[in-house]
Amino acid sequence: MAKGNFYIDIHTGHLSKKLRAVSTRIRQIADDFDYIEQNYCEKDGQVLGHVETRFGHVLKECSQCGEKYIFPNSEEDHVVPEEE
Ligand SMILES: [Zn+2]
Repeated sequence: MAKGNFYIDIHTGHLSKKLRAVSTRIRQIADDFDYIEQNYCEKDGQVLGHVETRFGHVLKECSQCGEKYIFPNSEEDHVVPEEE
């Protein structure tokens, strides 16, 4: 076996930009999946209606079959305390 150096030119500048593009798309898909899970019934795909928000959670109900779902209130997760 011959000894020597082995180089791979991976165009690092392009690679990082390509990986960023993939990362952006994956994040968008993950956000879309979260939206679907929190707004449509997993049994029949009908729209979930808001029932109530309490104790940091949102209760939703299927408009067709009445199945109930509870989710963490994502709006509260983004509340930034005001500085004094
Ligand atoms: Zn349903």
